[in-house]
Amino acid sequence: MKLNELGLLVVISGPSGVGKGTIRKALFKIPDNNFCYSVSMTTRKPRENEVDGVDYFFVSKEEFVRRIEENKFLEYAEFVGEYYGTPVDYIEKNLDAGKEVIMEIEVQGALKVRERKPEAVFIFIVPPSKQALLDRLMNRGTEKTVDIQRRIEKAEREYHLAYKYDYIVVNDDVANAADRIYAIIRAEHAKTERSIHKYYKLMEGKTNE
Ligand code: 5GP
Repeated sequence: MKLNELGLLVVISGPSGVGKGTIRKALFKIPDNNFCYSVSMTTRKPRENEVDGVDYFFVSKEEFVRRIEENKFLEYAEFVGEYYGTPVDYIEKNLDAGKEVIMEIEVQGALKVRERKPEAVFIFIVPPSKQALLDRLMNRGTEKTVDIQRRIEKAEREYHLAYKYDYIVVNDDVANAADRIYAIIRAEHAKTERSIHKYYKLMEGKTNE
């Protein structure tokens, strides 16, 4: 089934360590999808297995600040001492081409997108329990202890903002979570406000009465 006529902007967000990246990768494995991933720009150093241009565009702080001044970001945020931002050109180009553009970003950034792109779909990923999030952050081995601590403190503040999202998806199982997101995308395409114009067009000359 082809999902889209008009591209949908899907914002996947939630606390660090909740599994947003893993879920997003599972989502992209769903056959016959029309998804494209909005690769963010960051000033944080690459992790061992990360590839520039695939996981992130890794840039210096100077370069990042220059791009802020040039208005090159749909949104950006400072997260535990580093900048992260979404290049706006890529998003616009792919939405215009009718693609599903998937963003995976933290909470402050998602709320800024909500202001600028209210038609986007906002999904908040939550852990099955508080302990599960702690275990994940401790065991993934990608951050120093002090950074883990800062991410945990940040997560504590982010939980309370879940009510600002359209959907909450529990990451109890990665494949299930990805399936639920896929179902949300399909349902969003069928929403009256998104599909009514197409329907009227089909009904030959019938106008929006
Ligand atoms: P990490 O360092 O673990 O890759 O990312 C830290 C946090 O920044 C994660 O919650 C991640 O989703 C978020 N993030 C990644 N890219 C962006 C972005 O472009 N904008 C914002 N606001 N957050 C981002």
